[in-house]
Amino acid sequence: TTETPLLAVKDLEVGYGAIQALRGISLEVRQGEIVTLIGANGAGKTTTLRAISGMLRPRSGQVSYDGRSVIGVRPHLMVGRRLIHVPEGRGIFLNLTVEENLRLGAYTRTDDYTDDLNRVYELFPRVKERLKQTAGTMSGGEQQMLAIGRALLARPRLLLLDEPSLGLAPKIVQTIFSVIREINQSGTTILLIEQNARMALQSAHRAYVLEAGKIIMDGDARELVASDEVRKAYLGAH
Ligand code: ATP
Repeated sequence: TTETPLLAVKDLEVGYGAIQALRGISLEVRQGEIVTLIGANGAGKTTTLRAISGMLRPRSGQVSYDGRSVIGVRPHLMVGRRLIHVPEGRGIFLNLTVEENLRLGAYTRTDDYTDDLNRVYELFPRVKERLKQTAGTMSGGEQQMLAIGRALLARPRLLLLDEPSLGLAPKIVQTIFSVIREINQSGTTILLIEQNARMALQSAHRAYVLEAGKIIMDGDARELVASDEVRKAYLGAH
């Protein structure tokens, strides 16, 4: 279709001093998709998300969201435009209660967000059971659920997820991914980065493979799962 993608990244270059982390990344995320960016440690996945959400300023290239350039737009303004980034390490406040963390997700809202709160409780019953507990006392999986729940309170149109499965037990990973698919089915577009390529490709519509700051492959997630190159390099197949 000729519909403008919700997110379009073009020729993005980002460096940290002398280190060039991204060497010209181009990708698109269309309304309604789950797109995943997979790649080894250090390939540049986190850097890509940080540049999209305005946490890092690129050296060159373009990022447009909802048809407008967002280069130089401060991260908190992106929240107002409903582009929400759940960072690596989750970014929750360990000394605050679960409920306080959740409500922070809605801090820019002036409308009644009770329905969204109830939806988070439905998606993550564990979070609801632990509302009065400090976030730091929760398990890693519960903290990840809280981080995603908090993001939902900002009513994301585009949700950027940085390694939601990192360090979690396989059963919790299944839960998290099933909720990610559910969030997508109810209308939120998702850009997901993962080292767990298998899980990511099983849930995504499309994927990009990042290696040393460049996209080396992209396509339909199902086709990539079946490709020998991806299987050998990223799925541990022989
Ligand atoms: P990981 O899964 O380990 O986070 P990644 O694919 O997300 O890997 P990035 O974190 O984006 O990769 O890192 C890309 C490159 O940039 C790496 O070479 C990394 O060492 C470098 N890098 C990342 N952050 C910084 C920083 N703050 N200062 C200097 N170099 C950095």
